[in-house]
Amino acid sequence: MTNYAEFHQRSITDRDAFWGEQAQLVDWKVQPTHICDYSNPPFARWFAGGVTNLCHNAVDRHLKDRADQAALIFVSTETNQERVYSFRELHAEVQRMAAILKGLGVTKGDRVLIYMPMIAEAAFAMLACTRIGAIHSVVFGGFASGSLATRIEDAAPKVIISADAGSRGGKPVAYKPLLDEAISLSSYKPESVLLVDRGLVPMAMVAGRDKLWADLREQNMNTVVECEWVDATHPSYTLYTSGTTGKPKGVQRDTGGYAVALAASMKHIYCGEAGETYFSTSDIGWVVGHSYIIYGPLIAGMATIMYEGLPTRPDGGIWWSLIEKYKVTVMFSAPTAIRVLKKQDPALLKKYDLSTLKALFLAGEPLDQPTAQWISEGLGRPIVDNYWQTETGWPILSICKGVDDSPTKFGSPGKAVYGYDVKLLDETTGEELKGANQKGVVAIEGPLPPGCLQTVWGDDARFVSTYWTTIPGRMIYSTFDWGIRDEEGYYFILGRTDDVINVAGHRLGTREIEESISAHPNVAEVAVVGVADQLKGQVAMAFAVVKDASLIADEASALKMEGEIMKIVDKDLGAVARPARVRFVTVLPKTRSGKCLRRAITAVCEGRDPGDLTTMDDPAALQQIKDLINS
Ligand code: AMP
Repeated sequence: MTNYAEFHQRSITDRDAFWGEQAQLVDWKVQPTHICDYSNPPFARWFAGGVTNLCHNAVDRHLKDRADQAALIFVSTETNQERVYSFRELHAEVQRMAAILKGLGVTKGDRVLIYMPMIAEAAFAMLACTRIGAIHSVVFGGFASGSLATRIEDAAPKVIISADAGSRGGKPVAYKPLLDEAISLSSYKPESVLLVDRGLVPMAMVAGRDKLWADLREQNMNTVVECEWVDATHPSYTLYTSGTTGKPKGVQRDTGGYAVALAASMKHIYCGEAGETYFSTSDIGWVVGHSYIIYGPLIAGMATIMYEGLPTRPDGGIWWSLIEKYKVTVMFSAPTAIRVLKKQDPALLKKYDLSTLKALFLAGEPLDQPTAQWISEGLGRPIVDNYWQTETGWPILSICKGVDDSPTKFGSPGKAVYGYDVKLLDETTGEELKGANQKGVVAIEGPLPPGCLQTVWGDDARFVSTYWTTIPGRMIYSTFDWGIRDEEGYYFILGRTDDVINVAGHRLGTREIEESISAHPNVAEVAVVGVADQLKGQVAMAFAVVKDASLIADEASALKMEGEIMKIVDKDLGAVARPARVRFVTVLPKTRSGKCLRRAITAVCEGRDPGDLTTMDDPAALQQIKDLINS
């Protein structure tokens, strides 16, 4: 086993040699002339001069050795479908989809928005985009028309690919009406909408704009679409994520750096080998779905499972049964999902042969000790917590199993991953905290390693001001997370420094929820905070000041208004963003300069001491919240 400290050190101090070697894990049409061009910080141009294609690396290059091996395993316990696509079949489907997109006028650099459930066609769509150099922008299927409209407006896609419906717990969830509404809300209009009709709900088609995938596929059964070779720095996709302000940011990813970062991570972190099966339980709407359902496993020549359904249906053993059936060697999930499974019959964990599984990786939110312990004992396999972000595309902190045999520690996502020069900084002075066990902001010295965001889509200035200028006196990337590091270099993540909350692994901006709630005609002002929750990690709680108190004079009318607000959020952002409760107050706790004391509200909701309140304008405001919580 390599000495990990040296391995990590070399990735920072001998950066170009290190990444130059990793670059050989992928295919290049033209080899890069520069490994990292950091002449214009904080913009890093990885593998500049290189020419490659993501879809080629994920699909075509495996045809030589493994054309008939499984590539994409689609399993839906919602519609009871199961289908294994070999690399050859995946290649054919991706070419058909690519031909359809070209036929709809999509060319290199055009955006294609994908608003789809977890079906194989969504994977074809993503790969077809990168095949022809189009930039995909996948929007999570759980988002509703308001969220979707903002993303359509920002991405300006030539084509949107969608479906009639998703399905949850056996019930169809219509997508098409939400999409139609989002398009009508957006001032930008796509030229075409391509629809996969699953036959779950009827779809109203808009003449001239809407086309059926099945019809166009039929016309392109044998159309050959070669990969469009693109510069390593050509954007492969954008993925929107929430931050402090209400407007989501389009995280923009490159091509060459991303391919190399994923290929290297499959080797050094996940230990996935070609011919094996990877099972990530995430959704393609999130970054984990991009990196570790679609691109990472396929680049490594592995089969990847795409699962549509709940972890508990038909029973809590479904995921374990898939491990047995498809001989899964690497599994990736989120703590919330494991907490859900923990409530199921423990015998289900022993019912299946899980001997192929090398490790279970968990990410997206803090992994609590009882959950880690339960699953570690139940599986008898290493449980590896990873910490990363949509922005980075692959882990910042982990135990890199392929090059480090250090043990994991409960509560810690491990050490800084190679390529990441992680620092803890003092929030007010920006000074580096070098000693052990000091709390600081987790920051990364530039350049960010390959695979991380290149910029914010269409807004370089926002990229710089959001991530690189928040720490006084330093041009360094802020993760917006608090952390500490122990004597052995293990980090512990202590929560966000900003107004982002994490509900069941879903990242939500409290400002977005506040903006949505403010649309209710009787809401004058509202504060949304994240409050600790046993199952979901955090839930959103809203405290609203009403314009006309007579409308919530009794409990029944207050409940009615709470219901109306929840409906607004459901319709605008989606049920994922719905607050657990909306409570009514006459005033919000604020500083004398008018800043809402969200951290104090959170503390009170969690039964903790709200800390220093000397700057608070009206102490009675916080007392009202205390009384509500204790009532
Ligand atoms: P997302 O961009 O949706 O992946 O969310 C990223 C945020 O989720 C991070 O900034 C952290 O706040 C949180 N997060 C992700 N992984 C972990 C982890 N392993 N432990 C603690 N927090 C995590």
